Amino acid sequence: MFLQRLNLFFFFVVILSILLLGYHWYQDYHFDNHPLSTTLLQKIENKKLQTRQLMKKNLGFDLNVPLIVSDAMPAHLYGATAYTKHHRIVIYLNKKRFKESSEYMINHVIPHEYAHAVMFYKGNFTNKKKGHGKEWQQICKQLNGIKCEQYVNEHDILLGKTSF
Ligand SMILES: [Zn+2]
Repeated sequence: MFLQRLNLFFFFVVILSILLLGYHWYQDYHFDNHPLSTTLLQKIENKKLQTRQLMKKNLGFDLNVPLIVSDAMPAHLYGATAYTKHHRIVIYLNKKRFKESSEYMINHVIPHEYAHAVMFYKGNFTNKKKGHGKEWQQICKQLNGIKCEQYVNEHDILLGKTSF
């Protein structure tokens, strides 16, 4: 009797594990093959609005830059800001990185990249510290960026590049 119950118990544990595994697999599959959820897209939009309000307040101008969620970016890049050959400023956000770190993408990466966009807007295309020098740090802080002074070893400013 006891052994039978134990068997039954393990049987259910195994079934449950298979179901959970299937569920996670499905979630991964769904994430990779669909656009970001509307909840996440709304969070991105809200953060962009907040950042633009801070810009108006602290820098005295407004800059509406398209934020493009891309799944064609190299995995190590969270975001990138491009100044295209047609003189447009575009911010790219790496879709793959939203899977495990959506809060980081929104609160850390958006102000970080927006600070690069402001630098471009002001005509500052310096590559010193890969674009993360004193002036960039100042703007990053004014846009509520996180850890703006931290050394950034990322090539996330792209000059003359059109798209990912
Ligand atoms: Zn950067």
